[in-house]
Amino acid sequence: LIYHLPFGNIGFSHCVFPSQVCPNIITRSQWGAAAFIGSPSYLSLPVPYLFIHHTYQPSTPCTTFDQCASDMRSMQHYHQQTNGWSDIGYSFVAGSDGNLYEGRGWNWVGAHTYGYNSKGYGVSFIGDYTSTLPIKSAMDMVRYDFTSCAVNGGRLSSSYSLYGHRQATSTDCPGNSFYHEIQTWEHYQSYLP
Ligand SMILES: [Zn+2]
Repeated sequence: LIYHLPFGNIGFSHCVFPSQVCPNIITRSQWGAAAFIGSPSYLSLPVPYLFIHHTYQPSTPCTTFDQCASDMRSMQHYHQQTNGWSDIGYSFVAGSDGNLYEGRGWNWVGAHTYGYNSKGYGVSFIGDYTSTLPIKSAMDMVRYDFTSCAVNGGRLSSSYSLYGHRQATSTDCPGNSFYHEIQTWEHYQSYLP
């Protein structure tokens, strides 16, 4: 029996500590990102907050890799050339094609939620969710897969708080319908310190 314990433990551990579930993340090079301008700042990990956004523009959800990648390039161009930012502002962007697109990624401070960029990730959904919701598969990808991946990877605090962008500043983001929805998600908090 003693000799069987290590084998038993392997199976048992696998059940208790499930392997990391991560979304399919499309890297910057895969979507054709331009280079970061300047020198990025490191995030101090794990971060305590997760902010949910919608892009508003593009207003139409992308449903293919080609369209989502094109949307990523357009947003990055706008954020860099019009806003004068170093890079696309979001940490990650959810397409409706089953993929999560890397923006500033796990390690770098973003430009998504004024006053809180160094305290959290900003994940945006491509589309305008004022009166409709993202498709369920895209929401589940962020609600479950992204958060478990981030927590298991030591990037997001296991006791993280989830907010809509509008809780941090004067904006409608992530849209009325979507903001109503995320208030039912795990870790949503009404109070933002
Ligand atoms: Zn926003």
